[in-house]
Formats: sequence, C-alpha cells, structure tokens
Amino acid sequence: MAPVIVIMLDGISADTFARFAARMPHLHALAARGLAVERVAADVPATSLPGRTGILTGLDPSHHGIYGNLVWDGARFRYANPDDVRVPTLPQQALAAGLDVAVLGYGMVRPEDATTFHHAWWAHEMLQRARDEAPIPADEGWLRTARHADASGRIAALAAAGLPAGVPDAYAGDRMHYLMSELTGDQTMLQWTAALASTADPPDLIVTEVLTPDSVQHVAGHDHPFALWSLGYADALVGEVVRGLEAAGRLDSTSLLVTSDHGHGPVDGALYLDALLPGATCASEGGIAYVAVDGAGEADRIAARLRAHGVERLAGDHLPREQRDAVAAFTVPGRAVGFELAAPAERAGATEGPSRYASGHGFAPGTASDERFLVVAGGGVEPQRVPRAASADVAATVRALLGLPPRGVGRALC
Ligand SMILES: [Zn+2]
Repeated sequence: MAPVIVIMLDGISADTFARFAARMPHLHALAARGLAVERVAADVPATSLPGRTGILTGLDPSHHGIYGNLVWDGARFRYANPDDVRVPTLPQQALAAGLDVAVLGYGMVRPEDATTFHHAWWAHEMLQRARDEAPIPADEGWLRTARHADASGRIAALAAAGLPAGVPDAYAGDRMHYLMSELTGDQTMLQWTAALASTADPPDLIVTEVLTPDSVQHVAGHDHPFALWSLGYADALVGEVVRGLEAAGRLDSTSLLVTSDHGHGPVDGALYLDALLPGATCASEGGIAYVAVDGAGEADRIAARLRAHGVERLAGDHLPREQRDAVAAFTVPGRAVGFELAAPAERAGATEGPSRYASGHGFAPGTASDERFLVVAGGGVEPQRVPRAASADVAATVRALLGLPPRGVGRALC
C-alpha cells in the first residue's frame, strides 16, 4: 500500500477551482496526472465541521451526529467537538487496522485516534469558556485536543530539524496576531506534512487541513483579489508537499488526495433571527437556521410564521433521529441568503438586510456554490476526469487507497 496524504483546503468551491486554475498551478498539475472530480456534492449543511466529519466518515450527519458547527445539547446550541462524532473516523479505523496514522491540525479527530497528533491551530475558537460565565463540559472535547502532547516523538524530531515546534495561540493578541497565527498555523501543518511524508519511514496515512481560503473569502468576497491570493497560498502549501515528495523520490509512490469541506459563493443578504423569531433559541449554519422547538406542533407554528419571509422548513432527515423533535431546520430556497442571530445595531428590529459576510456557504440543499472539488494523484492512480461524485465517495476513495474494506454508501473512485 502506498502512503496516503489527505489535505482538506477549507472553502474552495468546484467553480472557483475551475475558474481560477491559474492561481492553483500545483493542484491543477496534480489533477492533470491523476483523478479529478469536477463537482463533489455538498453535505447538508455545507459548513465546516459537518464537512470535515463527512470526509472522514463517508456518512451523513444523521449517522455521524455533526449536523452543524453548532449542535443542540438540550439546553443550548454549542460547538460540536471531536467527542460528538458517533461513528469511527478513517484515522480510527486505519489505526485499528494496524496502520501508522498522523493527524496534523485536522479538526474533528480525537487525539487517541492517531499515532502522531497535533490539534487544529483554531481549536480554541470552538471553546465557549471565554464567552460564557459557566464553562460547559462539551468544551473538554476541544481542550483535550489542545492539551495533547505528541508521544510519537515525530513532531519533536521535526522541530529539531528546524521546523516549528508548535503553533501560536491565535487568541493571545490582536487581530494581526490572529491573522498571522492563521497563516503560520496552516503553513506549519503542511511543512510538517511534507517533512513527515519524506522521512525514511512515513506514516501510512497523514490527514491535515488549511483554513485560510475560507476565512479570507468570508471577509473579502469569493473573487476578491485577497481571496484569490488565499487560493494561491493554499496551493503553494500543497506545492511544498509535492516538492518534498519529489525530493525524496516518493511523488509517484504516495497517494495525495486534496478536497474541500464545502464551497463558497456570494451572499445576497441576511435574515435576522432575533426579529423573525423573538425569544426563540436559534443557531445559524449559513443559509440554514436551526431553531430549538418543543415538539412538532411548535415547529409547524414557526414554519407558518417564517413562510411569509420566503423561508421553508427542511424535512430534517439529515438530523440524528432523536434530535428531530427538538430541532427544526429552515432555509431559503433559490436565494443565497444567510441567517444571522441579530441585526446590526443600525438596523435593529429589521428582519432582513445586508450580511456580515461578503461570501458564504451552507445555503439551501443543492446550491451549486456549496459544491467542492476532489483531486487524487500518485500511488498508481490513473488519469481520469469525473464530472460528479457524491460526498460519501471521498471517504470511500480514501478507504480503497488504504486497503480498508468498503463501508457505508460511498463508491471508491479509483
Ligand atoms: Zn469550512
């Protein structure tokens, strides 16, 4: 079995991948010599933690449990964490099969499910400790990823060779400190990936991610010059992995799989939940809103109120079964509208207005801009163009590359 590297680049849509090919030369060179899927279907919702979990399980949220960046815990919507994942992830299954697994900064994996583990540089973003007076136990899921000290010795060896020993605390300074922590955090993970994959005894599976394209597009806009820069930055980091493999003579004998958790696209405006549903407990997943309800009757009443605003209730079959009476899901079909918890101060009381984000994702199921790309090259993968694949096919493809038995509904693409 050839070693496998999975790199998730956050928020690069299928359309962006095709349209701005010149900004991503390394990725398109990989696509030219391997398997390229033009459109990978989006998860519901097409947001970051469900997307990450889908890539590593090949299941939908009704099974893996991560039906949003935020999940309902019976009293509030809180950030999902790796302990909320209800099914074995690919790293966990690979480890159980006796493989050597490195997880470098990829969210939604537990430290014990890898031989070599480093937390996502952004893990603290998910902690509500700083925002709430009473910390909630679920934060422990993220805290323990950040506390984990790598026992394999591999990260220490990388540091001894001159690479970073860790990542800065992104929340220890001002906005510039956060931005530079993001850029260095992403770079460190891919530098480590390149170096580990090029050692004499590389891990069988390395899983890592780059967040920058998502953050920059949200703020700048999906085709803004800064957003295009962020595509080039992510591509250059992948290029560093390719260069490392090439220098080690391993480029053809390592399978490199690159994909995204969801797409990105222009936002047409926002609906403000505080004015639409005063007193309700809500969460926003971009263009999908979750509302805590007390049974089907209340969900029906809320749906009737929201219909006047072009909002439709989703069937909710993407929710885990036991959540369906407690959480109702809503979206705006046919429009790239985001839900926001509260209107900006100058629009207090308005139900609709501009969005805080120039670009976004997680819109109504089937929205084209939510779809992403997939590229797999090396390790004997033959050149092939595939117009469409299902979300579950990504995990099925990684399983096949690793020699793990098929599981779930996905189809291996190579
Ligand atoms: Zn994302």
